[in-house]
Amino acid sequence: MRVAVVGAGIVGVTAALTLAEAGAEVVVLESGTVAGEASGLNAGVVGGGGWGDEPDVDVALKMGSRERFLDLADGRGHDIGLDRTGTLTVVRTERELAWAEATVAAERAVGRLVELLDDGDLRRLEPALDPGLLGAVLDSLAIRAEPVAATEAFAIEARRAGADIRSGWAVTGLAPAAGGGWDLSGGGTGTGVGADVVVLAAGPWCGRLGRLLGVDIPIVPVRGQMWASPAMPPVLRHALAAAESPTDWADPATATTPPFLTEVDHRRLTRHLYGRQRPNGELVFGGDRVLVAEPGGDRTADQDGIDVNHRHVAELLPVVADRPITRTWTGLMPFSLDGRPLIGPLAGFAGLFVAGGLASSGFGRGPMTGGLVADLVLGRDPGIDLTPVLPGGRVRAIG
Ligand SMILES: Cc1cc2nc3c(=O)[nH]c(=O)nc-3n(C[C@H](O)[C@H](O)[C@H](O)COP(=O)(O)OP(=O)(O)OC[C@H]3O[C@@H](n4cnc5c(N)ncnc54)[C@H](O)[C@@H]3O)c2cc1C
Repeated sequence: MRVAVVGAGIVGVTAALTLAEAGAEVVVLESGTVAGEASGLNAGVVGGGGWGDEPDVDVALKMGSRERFLDLADGRGHDIGLDRTGTLTVVRTERELAWAEATVAAERAVGRLVELLDDGDLRRLEPALDPGLLGAVLDSLAIRAEPVAATEAFAIEARRAGADIRSGWAVTGLAPAAGGGWDLSGGGTGTGVGADVVVLAAGPWCGRLGRLLGVDIPIVPVRGQMWASPAMPPVLRHALAAAESPTDWADPATATTPPFLTEVDHRRLTRHLYGRQRPNGELVFGGDRVLVAEPGGDRTADQDGIDVNHRHVAELLPVVADRPITRTWTGLMPFSLDGRPLIGPLAGFAGLFVAGGLASSGFGRGPMTGGLVADLVLGRDPGIDLTPVLPGGRVRAIG
């Protein structure tokens, strides 16, 4: 079987790895470079929480991906900056504390391993945090990795297994081939690529590829942005998040389409925050999520949003207050309109699959997404009920 994967982000390269290791002939077509978009621009935080008693597809995406990162570092020997210290979601107000208590109770009720720390426990774990914090949710199974290194390492493994990964090959045409399968055109070479099966793993560009076929794949581009501090001695062992945004998002008054945006029409709904200290000593933080009309375009960070985030981090980690910002950057996250990933075949198009819509946690959920779509292509039992993420009627004809 010859499979063409469109996109060499974390979903595309991990799909290619599983497919190539199963013996498929795989070509990956990437308009830019491996890890050139969100998969290389993200904060590198990977959720954990444990498999729990009855894992659903979302738990499987997180925990299955976590296992693939561990295999990449421990099993296959790649230096991906893997850190197993866990993530703390810190709590500042009584309202956030109520959210944290309810969240931890719900997770523990299904056998997941998060716990609620009080202020004393938190201070012992992270002495540099603001002493006024009330506590934190600890996900001790969360890990992190360097995004470019990890995505490239998956690509190296895919190539080792026989995948042909081509950079600078933008797919601009996609059509059923006369004898079955698919013809892909573009690449700037005048030559096309034929394949029995196509996997669309183009992140926020999946919608544009769907339009080539007259269908609306409901994945939209949402701009995220981050900033970095100068390298500094260790001040933060865990990845850090704030309970402010999940508490706000639990209130129906902040509902957006797609869900979990931080701003709509230049009006701030909440302050989202996550980040970590990298192995090189830099702090990297971000959190804003703003819907944009089309992927591409202006990549400049919104300085007001960066300043809001920097001040928010300084409230939690006071040492940051007088540290300059050395660089800022943006990336495009693939948000699905209903908040659920799309993984599986596109109805009405034999041999065409989509794998995307992983939103703001696609680095941490991407490797398992790639593995699951590969299972479906290969006709293997994915071992988990994929109903909630199947494209099905969520993908509609345009017009
Ligand atoms: C600032 C920021 C911070 C984030 N932080 C985190 C985090 O801490 N943890 C986490 O889990 N997630 C995080 N995310 C989200 C995560 O990065 C994404 O969800 C994930 O990388 C999406 O992976 P992907 O493979 O679906 O898409 P992408 O990485 O966007 O890859 C798609 C690829 O397809 C290529 N492509 C597009 N169109 C074509 C075409 N026509 N022909 C050929 N190639 C094409 C693109 O060039 C791109 O390389 C963050 C994202 C951003 C932007």
